[in-house]
Amino acid sequence: MSELALPVVEFAPDRWGNPAHATGLSPATKEALDALGVRPRSVAVAPEDVVLPGPAVPASARTALEAAVGAAYVSDEEMDRLRHTRGWSTPDILRMRAGDVADAPDLVVRPGSHDEVVRVLQVCSEAGVAVVPYSGGTSVVGGLAPEREGFAGVVALDLARLDAPVALDPVSRTATLQAGMRGLRAEELLQAEGFTLGHFPQSYEGASLGGYAAARSAGQSSAGYGRFDEMVVGLVLATPRGTLELGTAPKSASGPDLRQLVLGSEGVLGVITSLTVRVRPVPRERVFEGWRFPSFGAGLEAVRRLAQDGPLPTVLRLSDEAETAINLADPSGGPAPGEGGCLAITGYEGDPEDVAVRRGRATAVLQACGGEPLGLESGEAWRRGRFHGPYQRDPLLDAGAFVETLETVTFWSNVPRLKAAVTEAVQGALGEQGTPAIVLCHVSHVYETGASLYFTIACAQADDPLAQWAPAKAAANAAIRAAGAAISHHHGVGTDHRAPYAEEIGPLGVEVLRAVKATLDPAGILNPGVLVAR
Ligand SMILES: Cc1cc2nc3c(=O)[nH]c(=O)nc-3n(C[C@H](O)[C@H](O)[C@H](O)COP(=O)(O)OP(=O)(O)OC[C@H]3O[C@@H](n4cnc5c(N)ncnc54)[C@H](O)[C@@H]3O)c2cc1C
Repeated sequence: MSELALPVVEFAPDRWGNPAHATGLSPATKEALDALGVRPRSVAVAPEDVVLPGPAVPASARTALEAAVGAAYVSDEEMDRLRHTRGWSTPDILRMRAGDVADAPDLVVRPGSHDEVVRVLQVCSEAGVAVVPYSGGTSVVGGLAPEREGFAGVVALDLARLDAPVALDPVSRTATLQAGMRGLRAEELLQAEGFTLGHFPQSYEGASLGGYAAARSAGQSSAGYGRFDEMVVGLVLATPRGTLELGTAPKSASGPDLRQLVLGSEGVLGVITSLTVRVRPVPRERVFEGWRFPSFGAGLEAVRRLAQDGPLPTVLRLSDEAETAINLADPSGGPAPGEGGCLAITGYEGDPEDVAVRRGRATAVLQACGGEPLGLESGEAWRRGRFHGPYQRDPLLDAGAFVETLETVTFWSNVPRLKAAVTEAVQGALGEQGTPAIVLCHVSHVYETGASLYFTIACAQADDPLAQWAPAKAAANAAIRAAGAAISHHHGVGTDHRAPYAEEIGPLGVEVLRAVKATLDPAGILNPGVLVAR
């Protein structure tokens, strides 16, 4: 496989994404903020003015780490440490803006090979230094903020140097890629060979393959290409005890599938250093279009019928009335505010004949459920703006709004109840504090048996926005649990969802995970407190 040189854009520690793509707020959003009583709040501490404590890792451990990866790849430079502090949830950003860097790693270590990763894990196990596997750093669930008590320091293990293509098997349609490779670089490399992974999460500009696998990511084209965990056919895991190589065949009956133990393990069992993923030919045709439904219920019926009886588009999403009206998640597309109804996006990729047939049959289903076609331009506008949403968060925070997202998944019969319960819980908790919130929702991923709901919450920031959000997040978690849904569909568990996740899998489930961790990571250095309590 040939290599393509791609510029990797480094994010600032406190602002999302490529600065060249930064945007302002639309008039509709500003109007909504006014209605919510949003006013500009305190000015943030600039990253350059943040004061970090000196690195805590013992000198002997640092020397051993330098011997493992080379001195040039062990950094205690302040901006480097800041860039590896936590992830990109709104509380993460607010803490960074407030100058709270209590979770900053002491060192950033950049191994250049699988063997170097194993060596680093051994050094840190011996020295009692915690290790945070770090791919793209886009976790939004506290997956990069482990507990440091009881450790001699914290190392952020940045995997960015592990970004080489290893092999392409065009006959089997698999590609083996090192796990530190950014998603966008993987896509460019594969497309140069006529293939695509088809994985496009909204964090595409920052996230990496290892993070996709470790956090069970789902991309916007999941209806057509599947979730990332469905794409993984093999992987290599570095652990303090040595190497696990998994996936000798696409499927097997050789006992339980240990790949499934690693997928979603969020860096607590080991470090994924390479992945073999299923790839598909680059589609020859792409058609995206918008639809309007008279109500969320009517749209839900349409997307369920497509998910269950087909034909399934490659992209299938449905916004509720509030999201359609505010247009917040999709500032560049969709019907104008005030026009009402619910916007759905359908996208078809594949051979032109196949696209035409699927689209024709899907159109009949959508129309039978009351859908009104909005044309190709509204679908194209969504496609063009599909990575723009996260760029709205910084100007919203600057304007004095609080904005955060959360997601969950349940069976079709439970979707309306879950949506109502989460909306009510969040609005209740924020309303009680005198900051009424708007809660927007869309169906983001569909399956034969159920769907994922993605919520965007916005309100005026209180004096202490972290204290303001905590009860609302707890209320949302409780509502998700009470409705019998999963605490996460694709963001993962991290530290933020650890308690409800423990309830979800029960005490025996937690014990199983702890036992596996104790085997692979006896010193407990990998992401302490992430996924399961110590
Ligand atoms: C603006 C924004 C939009 C997002 N949109 C989506 C979306 O559409 N779909 C979606 O699924 N997610 C989304 N996310 C969440 C996030 O991007 C995903 O969880 C993603 O999979 C994380 O990848 P990463 O490379 O950034 O991983 P990181 O954030 O670096 O790591 C995630 C977790 O996995 C661990 N880890 C990282 N690399 C490895 C490795 N090689 N081996 C073992 N453990 C490892 C880390 O320690 C951490 O606990 C979004 C996040 C943001 C900020």
